[in-house]
Amino acid sequence: MKALDELTFDNRFARLGDAFSTHVLPEPLDEPRLVVASNAAMALLDLDPAVADTPVFAELFSGHKLWAEAEPRAMVYSGHQFGGYTPQLGDGRGLLLGEVYNEAGEHWDLHLKGAGMTPYSRMGDGRAVLRSSIREFLASEALHALGIPSSRALCVIGSSTPVWREKQERGAMVLRLAHSHIRFGHFEYFYYTKKPEQQAELAEHVLNLHYPECREQPEPYLAMFREIVERNAEMIAKWQAYGFCHGVMNTDNMSILGITFDFGPFAFLDDFDAHFICNHSDHEGRYSFSNQVPIGQWNLSALAQALTPFISVDALKEALGLYLPLYQAHYLDLMRRRLGLTTAEDDDQKLVEQLLKLMQNSGVDYTLFFRRLGDEPAAQAVARLRDDFVDLAGFDAWAELYTARVARDGDYSEAQRRERMHAVNPLYILRNYLAQNAIAAAESGDYSEVRRLHEVLSNPFEEQAGMEQYAQRPPDWGKHLEISCSS
Ligand code: AMP
Ligand code: MG
Repeated sequence: MKALDELTFDNRFARLGDAFSTHVLPEPLDEPRLVVASNAAMALLDLDPAVADTPVFAELFSGHKLWAEAEPRAMVYSGHQFGGYTPQLGDGRGLLLGEVYNEAGEHWDLHLKGAGMTPYSRMGDGRAVLRSSIREFLASEALHALGIPSSRALCVIGSSTPVWREKQERGAMVLRLAHSHIRFGHFEYFYYTKKPEQQAELAEHVLNLHYPECREQPEPYLAMFREIVERNAEMIAKWQAYGFCHGVMNTDNMSILGITFDFGPFAFLDDFDAHFICNHSDHEGRYSFSNQVPIGQWNLSALAQALTPFISVDALKEALGLYLPLYQAHYLDLMRRRLGLTTAEDDDQKLVEQLLKLMQNSGVDYTLFFRRLGDEPAAQAVARLRDDFVDLAGFDAWAELYTARVARDGDYSEAQRRERMHAVNPLYILRNYLAQNAIAAAESGDYSEVRRLHEVLSNPFEEQAGMEQYAQRPPDWGKHLEISCSS
């Protein structure tokens, strides 16, 4: 266990120099205070969880203090936003403080979001508000606990600094952890600004540090791109299987590591709705829930374009061709497991599609349906769940197919079935209204709710005593919350 001043830095990205990032000091927040910290994320840095309660912790992660070895940098990148190319973006309100390596030899970027203006702030104020910082913190740690690759979050620090959005709010900072903060948009920036040397340097950097096993392949860059395709297919399959809607899948928000990254107006589905749009600025539904699958491929094509100096177009196209079949295989595998199936049959995809259609038509809660399906043997479970459906004949037809399919799958005890299904079907997810409750309390100075919600979501598959209120469908007021994009 380490104390805060014992972190070991090795700032590999900063060493790439000024063409890649700019030195900027964080602009401190007034009266910093700890809102919430993640013990699991602290462990990634070998930090003793007790340090979160020391005053120096809040000072370090609100820009008041810096380690001598930290080298705060704002990264430059660009990206396709809602399908159109924006030539220059970059860290407009976040700073890469440095890279720390832990005792296991893993490197973690420390990225402070909401740290003030940078050369890339454009029209923005460089700040993040408490509300969006809490949402990012809860989502990153909750996704990780669900087994969905994601950036992590160490803590949220609140303050008394006023920040103007639609109304006056308070500034906050979230400390984000990831093995890298390099985005698809980094490659696009050097490609479209025609800087081949720097683009090659970036590609070498990513290959050496993040995909070293691809070095062994005859075409290392192609192997790396293939791996990125595979990781994205798997990540998006998990989003779809668990009902996560990212909301702003611009290429500047896509990580080169295939992890969920840059949280904005994201949402988990309450009722199943394939057409759900969580981002109120997304008028066309470009990033609707079901569109995430083709958009994943669109984004990978944008990255492929930026990699044409290194890889032949034919090879890139072939690698892109892997995306959809891989996505489908991962998705179906997960959905089979969510249904409690251990074997594969040709018609399983149809079984899943039929169920989703019925859920869509009846507005059935996506998370609770699967959880309850595993509570009892198949026949009893479907008999109980039947009441949630409007199209009873449709549901009965599906239930008959399902129970027959389960019978062919194997002869399991009730306990085996429950254990296996509950291990993949969470009881608790980050519903928008739960986040909203925690935010409202935090905005009035009470951080107990955000801390409790974080605890519950850290163990989403296990029923926790006295936490029933976190495993309910949303109340009416919480069903269609408008999440502001001005975060
Ligand atoms: P996002 O939609 O959060 O992914 O942000 C897109 C771009 O806008 C990135 O370059 C951000 O750094 C920048 N940005 C977002 N909010 C702010 C802000 N309040 N101040 C400065 N830049 C911002
Ligand atoms: Mg972003």
